[in-house]
Amino acid sequence: MAAMERLRKKGIKLTPQRLAILEYLEGNTAHPTAEDVHAAVRKRHPTMSHATVYNTLRTLRDHGEVLELTIDPGRKHYDPNTQPHHHIICVGCGSIADVFQDFDVSIPEELDREYEILGSQIEFHGLCRDCRGKTGG
Ligand code: ZN
Ligand code: MN
Repeated sequence: MAAMERLRKKGIKLTPQRLAILEYLEGNTAHPTAEDVHAAVRKRHPTMSHATVYNTLRTLRDHGEVLELTIDPGRKHYDPNTQPHHHIICVGCGSIADVFQDFDVSIPEELDREYEILGSQIEFHGLCRDCRGKTGG
Protein backbone atom coordinates (compact mmCIF):
# COMPACT_ATOMS: atom_id res chain seq x y z
CA MET A 1 0.00 0.00 0.00
CA ALA A 2 1.56 3.26 -1.10
CA ALA A 3 0.31 5.33 1.84
CA MET A 4 1.78 2.82 4.30
CA GLU A 5 5.18 2.95 2.63
CA ARG A 6 5.26 6.74 2.61
CA LEU A 7 4.28 6.93 6.28
CA ARG A 8 6.89 4.34 7.26
CA LYS A 9 9.58 6.33 5.47
CA LYS A 10 8.55 9.39 7.45
CA GLY A 11 8.99 7.44 10.65
CA ILE A 12 5.27 7.32 11.48
CA LYS A 13 4.58 4.37 13.75
CA LEU A 14 2.08 2.05 12.14
CA THR A 15 0.37 0.25 14.98
CA PRO A 16 -2.13 -2.53 14.18
CA GLN A 17 -4.91 -0.06 14.92
CA ARG A 18 -3.52 2.56 12.57
CA LEU A 19 -3.04 -0.09 9.92
CA ALA A 20 -6.68 -1.15 10.29
CA ILE A 21 -7.77 2.45 9.70
CA LEU A 22 -5.48 2.77 6.68
CA GLU A 23 -6.81 -0.47 5.24
CA TYR A 24 -10.38 0.63 5.72
CA LEU A 25 -9.69 3.92 3.94
CA GLU A 26 -7.70 2.41 1.06
CA GLY A 27 -9.78 2.82 -2.09
CA ASN A 28 -12.80 3.90 -0.04
CA THR A 29 -14.95 6.25 -2.13
CA ALA A 30 -17.77 6.66 0.41
CA HIS A 31 -16.21 9.70 2.14
CA PRO A 32 -16.71 8.30 5.66
CA THR A 33 -16.86 10.39 8.82
CA ALA A 34 -14.66 9.60 11.82
CA GLU A 35 -17.70 7.85 13.33
CA ASP A 36 -18.07 5.71 10.19
CA VAL A 37 -14.40 4.76 10.37
CA HIS A 38 -14.72 3.92 14.04
CA ALA A 39 -17.81 1.77 13.54
CA ALA A 40 -16.15 -0.16 10.72
CA VAL A 41 -12.76 -0.86 12.28
CA ARG A 42 -14.19 -1.62 15.72
CA LYS A 43 -15.67 -4.82 14.35
CA ARG A 44 -12.23 -6.38 14.16
CA HIS A 45 -10.56 -4.15 16.75
CA PRO A 46 -13.10 -3.94 19.59
CA THR A 47 -10.74 -1.90 21.77
CA MET A 48 -10.36 0.84 19.12
CA SER A 49 -11.21 4.15 20.76
CA HIS A 50 -12.66 7.29 19.25
CA ALA A 51 -9.45 9.06 20.21
CA THR A 52 -7.32 6.62 18.23
CA VAL A 53 -9.50 7.13 15.16
CA TYR A 54 -9.45 10.92 15.46
CA ASN A 55 -5.72 11.06 16.13
CA THR A 56 -4.95 8.72 13.25
CA LEU A 57 -7.14 10.68 10.84
CA ARG A 58 -5.41 13.89 11.93
CA THR A 59 -1.99 12.34 11.40
CA LEU A 60 -2.98 11.08 7.96
CA ARG A 61 -4.38 14.50 7.08
CA ASP A 62 -1.25 16.30 8.30
CA HIS A 63 0.88 14.02 6.13
CA GLY A 64 -1.29 14.53 3.08
CA GLU A 65 -2.51 10.94 2.99
CA VAL A 66 -6.17 11.79 3.44
CA LEU A 67 -8.29 14.80 2.55
CA GLU A 68 -10.48 16.30 5.25
CA LEU A 69 -13.68 17.45 3.58
CA THR A 70 -15.76 20.28 5.03
CA ILE A 71 -18.58 20.11 2.48
CA ASP A 72 -20.91 18.81 5.21
CA PRO A 73 -21.35 21.59 7.79
CA GLY A 74 -22.27 19.03 10.44
CA ARG A 75 -19.37 16.59 10.27
CA LYS A 76 -15.99 16.26 8.64
CA HIS A 77 -15.57 13.54 6.05
CA TYR A 78 -12.40 11.81 4.95
CA ASP A 79 -11.19 10.92 1.49
CA PRO A 80 -8.13 8.78 0.76
CA ASN A 81 -8.13 10.07 -2.81
CA THR A 82 -5.80 13.04 -2.47
CA GLN A 83 -5.80 13.87 -6.17
CA PRO A 84 -7.51 17.23 -6.79
CA HIS A 85 -11.22 16.69 -7.38
CA HIS A 86 -14.56 18.14 -6.42
CA HIS A 87 -17.57 16.86 -4.51
CA ILE A 88 -21.34 16.88 -4.54
CA ILE A 89 -23.38 16.42 -1.37
CA CYS A 90 -27.02 15.40 -1.13
CA VAL A 91 -28.74 17.85 1.19
CA GLY A 92 -31.31 15.16 1.94
CA CYS A 93 -29.23 12.20 3.14
CA GLY A 94 -25.74 13.70 3.29
CA SER A 95 -24.21 11.26 0.81
CA ILE A 96 -21.13 12.63 -0.93
CA ALA A 97 -19.94 11.71 -4.41
CA ASP A 98 -16.85 12.60 -6.39
CA VAL A 99 -16.86 15.07 -9.25
CA PHE A 100 -13.81 14.45 -11.41
CA GLN A 101 -14.57 17.00 -14.10
CA ASP A 102 -12.13 19.86 -14.51
CA PHE A 103 -13.59 23.33 -14.31
CA ASP A 104 -11.98 26.37 -15.73
CA VAL A 105 -11.99 28.49 -12.61
CA SER A 106 -10.05 31.71 -12.37
CA ILE A 107 -9.95 34.44 -9.77
CA PRO A 108 -9.68 38.20 -10.24
CA GLU A 109 -6.27 39.42 -11.38
CA GLU A 110 -5.57 41.43 -8.24
CA LEU A 111 -6.07 38.33 -6.07
CA ASP A 112 -3.96 36.30 -8.45
CA ARG A 113 -1.15 38.78 -7.86
CA GLU A 114 -1.73 38.83 -4.12
CA TYR A 115 -1.83 35.06 -3.67
CA GLU A 116 0.02 32.11 -5.02
CA ILE A 117 -2.98 29.95 -5.83
CA LEU A 118 -2.42 26.39 -4.65
CA GLY A 119 -5.78 24.89 -5.42
CA SER A 120 -9.52 25.23 -5.43
CA GLN A 121 -12.50 23.07 -4.69
CA ILE A 122 -16.03 23.31 -5.94
CA GLU A 123 -18.85 22.05 -3.73
CA PHE A 124 -22.11 21.03 -5.37
CA HIS A 125 -25.29 20.69 -3.35
CA GLY A 126 -28.26 18.72 -4.58
CA LEU A 127 -30.75 15.94 -3.98
CA CYS A 128 -29.73 12.41 -4.88
CA ARG A 129 -31.98 10.04 -6.80
CA ASP A 130 -33.11 8.23 -3.62
CA CYS A 131 -34.01 11.44 -1.84
CA ARG A 132 -35.86 12.81 -4.85
CA GLY A 133 -37.87 9.58 -4.90
CA LYS A 134 -38.89 9.99 -1.25
CA THR A 135 -40.33 13.44 -1.81
CA GLY A 136 -42.08 12.40 -4.97
CA GLY A 137 -39.92 14.68 -7.07
ZN1 ZN B 1 -29.82 11.74 -0.71
MN1 MN C 1 -13.62 12.40 -3.09
